Amino acid sequence: MSSGMSLLDLSQVNPWILIASTVVVVVLFWRIRRRIKRPAKQKSFTSEYFKGLNYLLNDEQDKALDIFVKLVESDWEIIDTHFALGRIFRKNGEIDKAIKIHQGLIARPSLPEKYKTRVLLELGFDYLGAGWFDRAEGLFKEVLSLDSGSTVTRKNLILIYQQEKDWHKAIDVAVDLFGDDPGGIGPMISQYYCELAEQAKAKGDIKQLENYANQALRYDASSVRASIMLAQQCAARKEYAQAIRYYEQIELQDADFIPEIIDALVDCYELSGQTGKLLDYLSSLVERQQQIDLIESYASVLERYQGTQAVIDFLRKKIEQQPSIKGMYQLLSYYEKKMPVCEAIVTDLKNSLQAMQVNHAEYKCHRCGFESNTLYWLCPSCHHWGQIKPSGVVTQEYHHAG
Ligand SMILES: [Zn+2]
Repeated sequence: MSSGMSLLDLSQVNPWILIASTVVVVVLFWRIRRRIKRPAKQKSFTSEYFKGLNYLLNDEQDKALDIFVKLVESDWEIIDTHFALGRIFRKNGEIDKAIKIHQGLIARPSLPEKYKTRVLLELGFDYLGAGWFDRAEGLFKEVLSLDSGSTVTRKNLILIYQQEKDWHKAIDVAVDLFGDDPGGIGPMISQYYCELAEQAKAKGDIKQLENYANQALRYDASSVRASIMLAQQCAARKEYAQAIRYYEQIELQDADFIPEIIDALVDCYELSGQTGKLLDYLSSLVERQQQIDLIESYASVLERYQGTQAVIDFLRKKIEQQPSIKGMYQLLSYYEKKMPVCEAIVTDLKNSLQAMQVNHAEYKCHRCGFESNTLYWLCPSCHHWGQIKPSGVVTQEYHHAG
């Protein structure tokens, strides 16, 4: 060992090594206080611990780990240090070192039974971190066989099955957790059923698709995704009344998704010849929900059935209540259709208004801000379900009027 160790310049040591060393030092002194009555044994214990600590500070982690893993056999109560070290290594992406600690522990025949599940669990986390899902799955199953009530193990098994897109297995494990946390687990199970429904749809098995979508609604009554799938099937069978019911319930499930389905809903009304009802519905929807896309949809339907002047009247009233750039842009476009105005002026005005609008991606994750032009039900960035929604749903511009 380097004799210059005591002169070590701490500013040159990696911050994580300092954290790891702090953990070791804290445990060391705690042990010294507890072992004060056994000075002889204490001396060799302490010197070994310092040796390990020096290796750690000298960035010779392999040697440090060898010492720490051996040291634990003389006192299993220091095992928490090893768990703490393992977590620090894992957090810093040094999975191989975390694995070394935990494998070293599990290989000790003297490992007390009460620590076994904890070590297996930590090793499982290491394997997960390394992307070895098969091995992690095997370990988590072993933990469950030793401790059938382990929620954290089940949650990690679910993550593995989710990663492997094994939705049946994910559901099997998740239903065990549903009773304790229906609000947290229900929407996940619901998304797994929606995934199965998508698979059934790809195979053309519509009956199965509807079974799964209904199961999804059973576990999460506000599953927009299930409602959309069921509505689409009803519309395909020309069962428009039922399709309209499914689409309209989305306003109660999560109004942010209305722009996603509004065109399909309009189609259902029109194909079933209920244009009067459609206008009534849209007009009340626009009153209830302050969404710019809805105003656009309503304007185009209004123009189809009542003409351009009706749209202009509607937009003028709307802008009076809630001024917005996008609203002005639309109004100008309808004015342009209605009356001959100087083309150059209109083009200039429209260009300026367009430039003043912020361009958003079509969809945005409400949790992490990830933007995309595809609707992902599982956010590729933060891995949360159902957080990606049509962006610009609530129009900030329309809120300016207060
Ligand atoms: Zn996200």
